Amino acid sequence: MTIISARPTAAARTGERTFADRHIGPGPDAAASMLQALGYDTLQELVDAAVPADIRQDAPLDLPAPRSEAELLADLRVLASKNILKTQMIGQGFYDTLTPPVILRNVLESPAWYTAYTPYQPEISQGRLEALLNFQTMVSDLTGLPVANASLLDEASAVAEAVLLMRRTNKARGAGKTVLDANLFPQTLAVVQGRAHALGFEVEVADLSAGLPEGEISGIVLQQPGDDGAVVDHAATIAAARERGAMVTVAADILSLTLIVPPGEQGADIAVGNTQRFGVPLFFGGPHAAYMAVRKGLERSLPGRLVGVSTDDAGAPAYRLALQTREQHIRREKATSNICTAQALLAVVASMYAVYHGPAGLKAIAQRVHRHARTLAVVLASAGVDLVAEQFFDTVCARVPGRAKAVVEAAEALGVNLRLVDADTVSVSADEATTTEHLVAVAAAFSLADPESAVAAASAATEDAAGAHALGTAVVRTSEYLTHPIFNTIRSETQMMRYLRRLSDRDLALDRTMIPLGSCTMKLNSTAEMESISWPEFAGIHPFAPGHQTAGWRALITDLEARLCAITGYAGVSIAPNAGSQGEYAGLLAIRQYHLANGDSDRTVCLIPASAHGTNAASAVLAGLKVVVVRTAADGTIDSADLDAKLEAHREQLAAIMITYPSTHGVYDADVREVCDKVHAAGGQVYIDGANLNALVGLAQPGRFGGDVSHLNLHKTFCIPHGGGGPGVGPVAVAEHLVPFLPAAAAGESNGRTGTPVTSTPYGSAGVLPISWAYIAMMGGEGLTEATGSALLTANYVATRLTEHFPVLYTGNRGLVAHECILDLRELTARTGVTAEDVAKRLIDYGFHAPTLSFPVAGTLMVEPTESEDLAELDRFVDAMIAIRAEMDQILAGDFTVADSPLRRAPHTATAVAATEWDRPYSREQAAFPVPSLRQDKYFPPVGRIDGAAGDRTLICSCPAPEAFEN
Ligand SMILES: *Cc1c(COP(=O)(O)O)cnc(C)c1O
Repeated sequence: MTIISARPTAAARTGERTFADRHIGPGPDAAASMLQALGYDTLQELVDAAVPADIRQDAPLDLPAPRSEAELLADLRVLASKNILKTQMIGQGFYDTLTPPVILRNVLESPAWYTAYTPYQPEISQGRLEALLNFQTMVSDLTGLPVANASLLDEASAVAEAVLLMRRTNKARGAGKTVLDANLFPQTLAVVQGRAHALGFEVEVADLSAGLPEGEISGIVLQQPGDDGAVVDHAATIAAARERGAMVTVAADILSLTLIVPPGEQGADIAVGNTQRFGVPLFFGGPHAAYMAVRKGLERSLPGRLVGVSTDDAGAPAYRLALQTREQHIRREKATSNICTAQALLAVVASMYAVYHGPAGLKAIAQRVHRHARTLAVVLASAGVDLVAEQFFDTVCARVPGRAKAVVEAAEALGVNLRLVDADTVSVSADEATTTEHLVAVAAAFSLADPESAVAAASAATEDAAGAHALGTAVVRTSEYLTHPIFNTIRSETQMMRYLRRLSDRDLALDRTMIPLGSCTMKLNSTAEMESISWPEFAGIHPFAPGHQTAGWRALITDLEARLCAITGYAGVSIAPNAGSQGEYAGLLAIRQYHLANGDSDRTVCLIPASAHGTNAASAVLAGLKVVVVRTAADGTIDSADLDAKLEAHREQLAAIMITYPSTHGVYDADVREVCDKVHAAGGQVYIDGANLNALVGLAQPGRFGGDVSHLNLHKTFCIPHGGGGPGVGPVAVAEHLVPFLPAAAAGESNGRTGTPVTSTPYGSAGVLPISWAYIAMMGGEGLTEATGSALLTANYVATRLTEHFPVLYTGNRGLVAHECILDLRELTARTGVTAEDVAKRLIDYGFHAPTLSFPVAGTLMVEPTESEDLAELDRFVDAMIAIRAEMDQILAGDFTVADSPLRRAPHTATAVAATEWDRPYSREQAAFPVPSLRQDKYFPPVGRIDGAAGDRTLICSCPAPEAFEN
C-alpha cells in the first residue's frame, strides 16, 4: 500500500518549500490540527480509513522526481526549442493571427478570466456572460442567422453536431441520408463519418456543385470557402436542397464573412465554424472556440450553452444561461448533445478581438488577407501556374504536376509552411500575419525567376482601389454587421484594458474565493503551469505542420500520456478528446468497436447508475449504445439487486457499465471490485468515469481495480483552468485490449493511433497540455499522492465541521467521505422553506461561489474544497455556512418569513443595500455584512436574483440595446 509522506517533508527539513508545499493549501501545522479535529494522527491513517484496502495500489507512483518551478520552466524551454517555428500558410481551417497584447495579457493570461467557473451562478458571472453574449452577437451578425451559442469544441465536431441537429429536427426526412460536399476539410469529413458510423446512419460524400444526389436527403453540408479555397455561390444548391425537403448547414470561415454573403442570407438553416483566427493562437490545433448559429425555430434544438437576457429581482437586465433544459444535465440520453465543457475562454478572446477591431477593422483585416491572396494568385498565374479556383478569399490552391513536394520543401527552406494537398497540388493560405516578404518566399518556392519583382508588380496591380476584390457580385456581402455599440466604442488600449477589468470585476473567480464545486475540482492553476502556453514555440505551431517541426510538442504529449498511464494503471492514453464528454464518446466507441471486432454486434446496452453525470448517458447514445439505468440504493451505492436484475435481463446485449469512482455521491463504495467482476462475467466492459480522479491519484488506479476505460478531466484533476466554461481536455485511458481503438488523427500526420477520430486535429487541445505536464512534473509522485490525501482531509474537515448544521448525506467507511461531500438541505427546506438555491445565492453575500447545486441529488449542495484551499479559507466557508444556518433558525424563531428573509432575497446588490427605501425585516448590515470580515473585502454582485423562467419564455440571445440599462 502506498505511503503518504508525513509532513514535515524533506523540503521542510531543509527549511525550503517545494512546489507541492505551495500547491497544497494546509501547511503542516494546519494539517495536524485538521487531522486532530477528525480524530486521526496522520494523513496516512485518514487515507487508510477512507479508501477501501482492496483497491489501494501497492507501489508508489512511478514518476520522475519533482522539479522546482525554475527547473520546470527550463525543461519546458528545452521542449519548446525542439519545435521549429515557421510562417504558417498551411490553412486548412487554422490560420496565424495577431492576438492583441492587451487581450493576451488581460484575458488569456489573467486569472480573473481563466480561473472562473462555468456561469451556472449567473449573479456572480455577469462579466463573462456579457463577453459570451458579445460572442453570440458577433457570430449571429457575421453568419446572418439569429441565434448563436456560446461556443462548441472544434470545427469538425461542430459540423457533426449540426448534422445531428438536422437529423433530429428534419422529421419529414428522418430516414434520409446526410450529404457532405466533397469540398469540406478532410478532418471534417473524417469526424462526421465516424459519428455517422457509430449511429448507423448513411452519409454520402458528393460534389454538390454538380447537383444533389438521388434519394431522400435529411440534410446537406457545404463549406465556404471550400477545402480548395474556392468561394462558391451556394444559393442555387441551397434552394435545390430546400426544395427537396433537406436542411442545409454551411461551415463558414468567420473572417471571410466580413466580405462574403453569409450563410443565413443564402437560406442556410445552420452555420458552423471556428473562431480561432479572431486572435486565438494556433496552439498546435487547439483549444479554439467553434461556433454554431441557427435560423429561427431551431434554437430549442441547439447544442451547447446559450447565454440569454433576463431580468433580476429589481427589474434590471441580467444575463444568464438560457434553455438549460436542452442540456444533458436534465435531458440525459435525450439531450441535444453531450457537450458540457466547451471553449468559453477562447470564445471570450475571439469576441474581444471583434470588440477591439470593430466591423471596419475586421473588414480591413479581411481585405488585407484577401489582397495578399490575390497578389499571390496574380504572381502564380503570371508564371503559368494553374490555379484550382477562380474565386477565392484567402487560399490559393495551385496545380504543379509532380512538383508539389518540391515546392513545399523549398518554401519550408525559406521559412514558410505550405499545404501539400497531394503530389500535384499545393495550397497557400494568407492570414492576418502575412507580409509581402512571405509572398516573396512563396513565389521563390514556386521557382519564379525574380520573385521580388513579381510580387511587387502583382501587389501594385491588386492595390488599384480600396475595397477591391476578386469576388463576383453574387457572393459579395452588402449587409451590415456588428452594429451594436459594444463593437463600435472600444478602440484605445486604455478603453480595452478597462472594459476587460470592469467585466472581470463583476465576477467571482478562484482568484478571489474558493469555488467549492463538487465534481469540478476547482484547484489551483499555478502561474508556472500556465506560463508556457503562450510561448511562440508552443502557441505558434500549426496542427498540420510536418512532424520534423513538432518534435518538442510530440515529446511533451508522449510523455504526458505515459505519465497518465502510470497514474491510472492503464496501458494507453490519448489526449485527443477536447473535453470529458468527448473522452466518454471516444472511450465508449472503443468499447463498441472491441465488441464488434469480437463479433459481438448485439452488445449495445450500456448500464448507467441513476446518479451518473448527464454526459454519460448522452455520450452513450452518441456511441450507438442503448442506456439502461441502474437504481441507487438508500445508502447511495449502486443498488446491487437492481444491478443483478439488469445484468440478467441484458446478459446477451451488455456492452458496458459506466460508473464514476469514487461515486458522484463523494464516497468510495466498498464493493467496486465486485461490481466490475459481475459486469465482466456478463461479457461487458467497465467504463470508470475519471472526473473524480482527484480522490484516487497515488492511492488507487482505475486501470487496476476493474476499469477497462476511463476518461480523465485535465481541467479538473490536472490543473487546466476552467476558463469560465472551457477549454477542457478529456483524455481517454484504456486497457491493453482497447489500445487499437484509441482515436486516430482525422487529418495531418498520424498520431500513431488507429480508432475513430473524434477531433479536428491529431492532438486536440494540445495548447493547454503543458499545464498538466507541468503540474505532474513539479508535484512528482509523492506530491501528487499527498495532494490526494490533502483533498480527502479538506473534504472531511468541512464535512465534520458542518454536519451538525447541515447533515452530510452519504458517507463510506468509518463515516468518512472521499474528496467531496453532499450537504442535505431537504429536511431543513421542509421546515424553513429555505431551498438549496437560497443558500447558494446567500453565499454570494458572504463572498463565496456556491457549491454544486442539486447534483447529483436534488435539494442538496455538493462541496469539494480541493487540496489547494488553506485552513483559513476553509474556516471562512464553514463559518459562512454556519451563519447561514443561523439565519434559517431566525426564520424558525419568527424573526422574518422565508419570503422576506435575507436568504430568499439574496444576493444583495449595492444598489439594494444603499437604497433610500429599506422595508425589509432584517438590517442592511445583516444584508451586506453578515460577518465582520466582509467590511474589509466585500464583493457586491452587479445584479440581484435573476428570474430564469422569464428569460426562457422570451428568448433574447444577442446584446440588448444600451437603453435597456438606463435607469
Ligand atoms: C465534469 C464531468 C464530466 C464531463 O466533463 P466535461 O469536460 O465537462 O465534458 C463527466 N462526468 C463527471 C462525473 C464530471 O464531473
